[in-house]
Amino acid sequence: MKDLAFEESHGSQRRERITILIAGGGGFLGSHLCEKLLGEGNRIICVDNFQTGSRRNVAPFIENPDFSLIEQDVCIPLKIKEPVNQIYNMACAASPPSYQQNPIHTLMTNIIGAKNLLDLARRKGARILQSSTSEIYGDPEIPLQVESYNGNVNTCGPRACYDEGKRAAETLFWEYNELYGVQTRVARIFNTYGPRMHPKDGRVVSNFIVQALEGENLTIYGDGSQTRSFCFVSDMVDGLVRLMASNETMPVNIGNPDEFTILDLAKIVQRKTLTRSRIEFTSLPKDDPRQRRPDIGRAAAVLDWAPKVSLDEGLDHMIAWFREELIGPRLTDALVQ
Ligand code: UDP
Repeated sequence: MKDLAFEESHGSQRRERITILIAGGGGFLGSHLCEKLLGEGNRIICVDNFQTGSRRNVAPFIENPDFSLIEQDVCIPLKIKEPVNQIYNMACAASPPSYQQNPIHTLMTNIIGAKNLLDLARRKGARILQSSTSEIYGDPEIPLQVESYNGNVNTCGPRACYDEGKRAAETLFWEYNELYGVQTRVARIFNTYGPRMHPKDGRVVSNFIVQALEGENLTIYGDGSQTRSFCFVSDMVDGLVRLMASNETMPVNIGNPDEFTILDLAKIVQRKTLTRSRIEFTSLPKDDPRQRRPDIGRAAAVLDWAPKVSLDEGLDHMIAWFREELIGPRLTDALVQ
């Protein structure tokens, strides 16, 4: 089956409007997907319960006749009358402090929510993409995580509600494809950052930037030797759209393989923001993965995708965005004097 939205974004002359449902469309990644796919001329149905997403993220699209918003939890089955061609399941709190607030709900969102969306995809004959995660690898024992690695997740720990929920969702996607022929796609999303992250999201890039701009200490959990690999949001959205358009039904890692220690990141943010904030070391949360770096060989082979935005460039965008968002230009200048 040809994907017309993909053809359009990759140089074809043809343009045909399709209807795309984005569950979690009010969130950080979801709202960037809404923006891109709406901009390509598609009709977007955004579903969000605004647990961690925000109405502000979708405010620019509300007046657009091609955009509609359903305020609903995906744990409740969706009743959609019109045809739907594609579904992106981006619905779940993604930062550890948020998803740990109500762990049972997190688990149910990932399992019941995914099943409800798969049932909808089956009824509508829609293609469906799951936002899975590098967290399915848990605390990885190998430095470069390839899709064939089965992971190292603690089933009885504070991250299990998210990790195990996402793992079960991958199984649901696989079975719906095997049993019912539903066109499933699974993206294993590695740490992603960019504009529209909530200042209180709790993840490391937004925390450090907000702390630096507000003159607060940068809080490193543990000694900062743990690593992460950070992908800018535009690269992530491009990878997700390409995966949706591809024929790949097995999981695909999408992330930026440039790896940094958390201490490195803190120092880069200090330097870039010219902050006087100091680094403060606090306790490491239980089960915090020691290392994380995606092998993106499969994404390169099947999606012809690789990230384009370096951490250096991406942080500049994000810092500029947070300066506007938080304190405005005048106070920002005062901070660096
Ligand atoms: N982290 C930190 N300070 C913060 C927030 C996070 O040192 O203010 C650490 C956290 O312990 C982890 C890494 O940064 O080792 C990435 O955390 P994040 O919550 O962004 O993502 P995840 O752990 O899900 O990869």
